[in-house]
Amino acid sequence: MPPAHPFDDDKLREECGIFGVTGVQDAATFVALGLHALQHRGQEAGGIVAHDPEQGFNSARRFGYVRDNFTSADIMETLPGPLAIGHVRYSTTGSKGQTAIRDVQPFFGEFSMGGAAIAHNGNITNANALRRELIERGSIFQSSSDSECIIHLMARSLQRNIPERMEDALRRVEGAFSVVAMTRTKLIGVRDPLGVRPLVLGRVGDGWCLSSETCALDIIGAEFIREIEPGEMVVITADKGVESHFPFRPQPSKFCIFEHVYFSRPDSILGGRSVYETREAIGRELAKESPAEADIVCPVPDSGTPAAIGYSLESGIPYAMGIIRNQYMGRTFIEPTEQIRNMGVRLKLNVNRALIRGKRVVLVDDSVVRGTTSRKIKEMILDAGAKEVHFRIASPPTAWPCFYGVDTPEREKLLAATMSEDEMVKHLAVDSLKFISLDGLYRAVGESQGRNKACPQYCDACFSGEYPVVPADKVEQGFKMRTAAE
Ligand code: SF4
Repeated sequence: MPPAHPFDDDKLREECGIFGVTGVQDAATFVALGLHALQHRGQEAGGIVAHDPEQGFNSARRFGYVRDNFTSADIMETLPGPLAIGHVRYSTTGSKGQTAIRDVQPFFGEFSMGGAAIAHNGNITNANALRRELIERGSIFQSSSDSECIIHLMARSLQRNIPERMEDALRRVEGAFSVVAMTRTKLIGVRDPLGVRPLVLGRVGDGWCLSSETCALDIIGAEFIREIEPGEMVVITADKGVESHFPFRPQPSKFCIFEHVYFSRPDSILGGRSVYETREAIGRELAKESPAEADIVCPVPDSGTPAAIGYSLESGIPYAMGIIRNQYMGRTFIEPTEQIRNMGVRLKLNVNRALIRGKRVVLVDDSVVRGTTSRKIKEMILDAGAKEVHFRIASPPTAWPCFYGVDTPEREKLLAATMSEDEMVKHLAVDSLKFISLDGLYRAVGESQGRNKACPQYCDACFSGEYPVVPADKVEQGFKMRTAAE
C-alpha cells in the first residue's frame, strides 16, 4: 500500500472515486480504465466487482494504484461479464491509514432475490448510530466502513426488489453519498438529496456508464450525457435503458464547492462548466479582490495553475513557472512526521531561480490547510532571491473539518481555525496573504449574485462552519458546531 505523500498531507483529500458500466464486453476493463482516470480521488486501494451470466459475481480488491493491479491479465481474466462496478479509496471512516482489505469496496451482499454490490463515495454522518442499531438487531459487520451499513439496511428491508431495498436503506442514511451499485442485470446510480458528491451518466457504445467525474468518461470514449440530479436514482437495464426515480424528499442542493476549487480534475465538466475555466475565473476574482504590486504571478503547481493564469490575465502581471514540480517524484516511503512533511515539499517542488531572483512574486495556491507547505514554499522562494512574496489563495480560509467524504485534519490543526488572517501573515512570514472571499468564490463558480446567506447554493461548511447536514456522530463524540456568536 503506498503511504500518503507528506506534501499531500497538507491538502484536503477527496476520499473516493466510483465508476460502473453495463452493456459492453469485458466491462471490468472499462471500469479499470475509469478508475485509473479517477485515481486522484483515492490512491490507497481499489476494487472491482463484475457479473457474468454464466460465472456469476466475481470480485478483486487490492491495495495500491489501479495501474499496478488492474492491468494484469491474471486479475482481469477473473472479472468477466458485461456489467461491472469499481471503487478507488483513500480511507474514509473507521481504520484511517490502516485499512484492512475487508474495508475496500465494492461491498457485496447476497439477498433472497439475488446478489448486489455497492460502491459509495461520501460519508454517512449517522453511521455510528445505525451500526449500533443494526448490531443490536443481529447484523454481523465485516468491515469498519460506514458504507457497509447500506448493505445491512438493505438486508433488513421488506421490499421485493433490490432497487426498492436500496431506496429504503438510503432513506435511513444521513450525510453525503453518491452510490454506484449493481445486481445481476441492473446498474444503479444514486445521489443523496443534497447532491453533495458528484455523479455523472455517460453512453459508451450501446452501453451506459456512471462515474464520479466526466474525465473518466473521456478515457473510455464515452459520451457525457448528464449529471445525476441530487436525490435521483437511476436504474439501468439492457431492455429498458435508463429509468429515473426521485425517492427522497426534495431539498435545496448543496454540491461541494471544493470540487470546483481542488478535488475534481481540471479536464472534468461540473455544473455545465469546465473545471479549468472555473478555476481561471476564481483567479480573476482573486485579482479583482486582492490586487498586488508585483513582477510575476507563479502557481503552486499543479492545482494552483489555472487560478494563477486567471490572476495573471486579470491583473496584467506576467505569468511565470516559478516553481517546477518533479513529475516523477511519486510517493515517498518515509513516515509523514512534521519534519519529513517539510522536507517533502522540496522533494516534489523546486524553484526556478533564474525567474525568481530579484522579483516581487505573487504565489497562487488552491488552499491553505495546515500551512506547513505554504511556509516551506515561501522559504524556498526567498532562498532563491525573491524580493517579496505575496500569497493569494483560491479558496476562503479552511477553518472547519469536512464530514462528507473528505479527509481533513482535526479542527485544531487547521491554520485558519486557530489564527486570524493577520496572525497567518506573521506565522507564514510573507509580505501579504489574501484569500478569495466566499462571495467571490460563488461568483467564480457562476453565481453572479454571490452567496445566498439565507440558503447557500453550495456546501461550503469547511469555510463557513455551516453544515448542511448535522454531523451527528461527530457531535456525539464532542465536536462543537459553530455557535451564533462565532
Ligand atoms: S465541507 Fe467543504 S470539502 Fe466537505 S463537502 Fe462541504 S465544501 Fe466540500
